[in-house]
Amino acid sequence: MMNSTLFSDPFVCRLFGVFGDPVNHSLSPLMHNTAFRKLGINGIYLPFHVQANALPQAVEAIRALGMAGVNVTVPHKLSVTKFIDELEGDAVLTGSVNTIHNNNGRLIGHSTDGLGLMRSLVEEVDWSPRGESAIILGTGGAAAAIAYRLVQEGISRLLILTRSESKGVELADAIHGKMGFRPETASFNYPELARLARRFTLVINATPLGMLSHNGEAEPPFAPEWIAPDGICCDLIYNPLETAWLRRAKIQGRRTLSGLGMLVHQGAESFKIWTGQEMPTADVRESLTEQLLMRDNLQFGKKQ
Ligand code: NAP
Repeated sequence: MMNSTLFSDPFVCRLFGVFGDPVNHSLSPLMHNTAFRKLGINGIYLPFHVQANALPQAVEAIRALGMAGVNVTVPHKLSVTKFIDELEGDAVLTGSVNTIHNNNGRLIGHSTDGLGLMRSLVEEVDWSPRGESAIILGTGGAAAAIAYRLVQEGISRLLILTRSESKGVELADAIHGKMGFRPETASFNYPELARLARRFTLVINATPLGMLSHNGEAEPPFAPEWIAPDGICCDLIYNPLETAWLRRAKIQGRRTLSGLGMLVHQGAESFKIWTGQEMPTADVRESLTEQLLMRDNLQFGKKQ
């Protein structure tokens, strides 16, 4: 996977980056630059504000400038697939790309979000999908990546909850068409939801409800106490580090997991694709936590 000549000359600095709109608040530069420094890799990772109309030129610039690798974030994860040469792994299933690897001028697209969450679940709450049951709230990019990954890893029951039932059915049909496994779907208003949810051991919030930039105190329309008493509530949000929904889950005696682990591990997967090396995840996590706490404080200060 690694381009073996990539780091053969320690005097050549390799360029990496993230394309997004907006991109100012991305934590990826801090994450990858921390890892480069820690491992002594001569690389630099920068944020690039790329608007939709400039995406084709930005992708061409990866080749023209000899960039080693790029992350792609909102809103380009789907549209970028039109401009690259090949999809690999989860990107083939999801049709969404968050990582581009420049392999000697050939641009290969990967999706590392699903794997990132699986690593975080195993490492932090000792939960693996095989034979288990899970609920996903939302049907956006992150929800889809996670749903495909859970099915690949042998989940036995998957329920997708949405505010618009047609979007849930659309995602379930796509998964069934590609993988022969049909997730169940329901709307947040389903009257029997509390009773149904009791049989599931994991619930994942893949909506933006609770994000500091959105409305920090908002919660997804799913009470944490609805899942099994020994179940886990996982929020993909990492800013704030602990959402109001996770705080409530803790009070209700559920185990909790924030989105920080997924963020670190999806980045670690990209890092490995580009460099062939393991990201020093403990150091990276420490830097990100420090940065997030600072942002929490700034935001909190503003509200005073
Ligand atoms: P997205 O593609 O915009 O999808 C958002 C989903 O949330 C959609 O299904 C949307 O429903 C639903 N939603 C939005 N507002 C809602 C509301 N008021 N009530 C009910 N449902 C609502 O976003 P995404 O990229 O999947 O990201 C989702 C969340 O995951 C964000 O908080 C993001 O920060 C987080 N995330 C975290 C990581 C990580 O590494 N930890 C990685 C990726 C994403 P409609 O389709 O009906 O609008």
